[in-house]
Amino acid sequence: MTDVYLNWIDGAWAQGGAGMMDVENPGTGETLAQQAIADASDIDRAVQAAKRVHESGALWHLRPVDRGRMVRAIGDHLLANHEDLARLLCREQGKTLWEARNEVRNSARYFEYYGNQAETLEGRQIPLGAGYFDFTVLEPFGVTAHITPWNFPMEVIARSLAAALATGNTCVVKSSEITPLSATIYGPAAEAAGFPPGAVNVLAGYGPDAGAALTSHPDVRQIVFTGSVPTGIAIAESAAKNVVPCVLELGGKSAAIVYPDADLDAFEGEVRKAIFTNAGQICSAMSRIVAHRSVHGELVERVSTLAESIDVGPGIDRDTVLEGMGAMVSGKQLDRAVGLVSRGEADGARLVTGGRRLNLPGHFLPPTVLDDVDPASELGQTEVFAPVVSVMQFEDDDDAIRIANGTDYGLVGGVFTRDLDRATQTARKLRGGQIFVNEWFAGGVETPFGGYGKSGYGREKGREALLNYAQTKNIAIKLG
Ligand code: NAD
Repeated sequence: MTDVYLNWIDGAWAQGGAGMMDVENPGTGETLAQQAIADASDIDRAVQAAKRVHESGALWHLRPVDRGRMVRAIGDHLLANHEDLARLLCREQGKTLWEARNEVRNSARYFEYYGNQAETLEGRQIPLGAGYFDFTVLEPFGVTAHITPWNFPMEVIARSLAAALATGNTCVVKSSEITPLSATIYGPAAEAAGFPPGAVNVLAGYGPDAGAALTSHPDVRQIVFTGSVPTGIAIAESAAKNVVPCVLELGGKSAAIVYPDADLDAFEGEVRKAIFTNAGQICSAMSRIVAHRSVHGELVERVSTLAESIDVGPGIDRDTVLEGMGAMVSGKQLDRAVGLVSRGEADGARLVTGGRRLNLPGHFLPPTVLDDVDPASELGQTEVFAPVVSVMQFEDDDDAIRIANGTDYGLVGGVFTRDLDRATQTARKLRGGQIFVNEWFAGGVETPFGGYGKSGYGREKGREALLNYAQTKNIAIKLG
């Protein structure tokens, strides 16, 4: 019998008004489970529950240290269920078991980090002369909406949920309809941590139905979204209609600039994790390598040898560090990637390795390297969201910056050189919310993350993210 997963509304499991949906295991192509799908009335019930809890003051009137301990306890609950969650995540998303274990641990880390920060948010006193006492307080918005994607189904929820709860907001999460199963842990986790029913609601549903009902709901006071640019625009429009702030994290086409003096051995290790983990389905992936012409040939050789050494197959069989690569999340994403690669070839790129689906049950694309990609071509400009890296050449430093900055996106960027001056100057000129020098994905929960340009706006992670969920009130007292 297939397992059935439900929605979590107002502290209890609930069916969905839109019926049931089959959830596929992309590593086998088989049906893994069934998920209850929420409709607009389920969303409304969840928002009303979250509003009731907010208005009761049950969360935001707490002493922050106590709220922080509750936030940390959600992370403890994830860790207590670590192995089961990792196996479920691996099966529903396609990633390797090692990557899934990592994701569960990283998710728990958000609750630790923001739980610890809950009591550090403070207002300030503003001097207005002897006749006044003036101060600011930071208050939660109320009901926050979290619309999340399928590439990191647990971690993306964790990063906004932890910060929103730490600042005393209540939450309605709409998980991705492609990977809704592991997200269901957050309801019981919040209950186990002592949050009142209605403080955290987790619903699965289709974007244009449940998603749109949530982001346009008049009682939602703040929205955070991770996903594609067109959906981000639709959500920003509906946020604007209700005049609520939103944070948009919309992906990227990030470039690593490799200078002639770069340590190519070290760079190879970075490429391995930067584009070939999670089957490349990472918004901040290294999807372009912009190599100086003097190292370009050797670099293509090294990266393609590396790509061919990675064994691809069901993630559940791969449980040690960087062992092989798992499936892509769906047939649709795989078809899209294969289409972009073949149109890239038609536009003049040279396919060095990979690029064709594997003849296995499930959805597998081998690590793929294309050389001589025209920076202005569709492949040079479009986020593939797959284990596909495009290599381009540059002549001088200005050329490198022009190519790296030459897309609509601006999420992250990288510089590989032993010359600290050059690294610093290049980092300053790159258009992106986070720049890595001699390492990709440097930093962690503590470092702010978000986009320039069409990669979005607002920052997640780090101390900055807390301010997404708090509004400033100034209180000015005229003294008698
Ligand atoms: P998407 O933007 O369609 O979906 C992301 C989330 O938004 C899902 O939960 C979806 O149900 C919801 N959604 C969709 N339409 C909505 C609407 N009108 N109102 C409210 N919510 C809505 O992304 P996708 O289809 O899953 O993937 C498409 C592309 O998005 C990918 O190829 C990739 O380029 C990009 N993507 C980026 C990230 C990232 O981390 N930046 C993650 C996933 C996908």
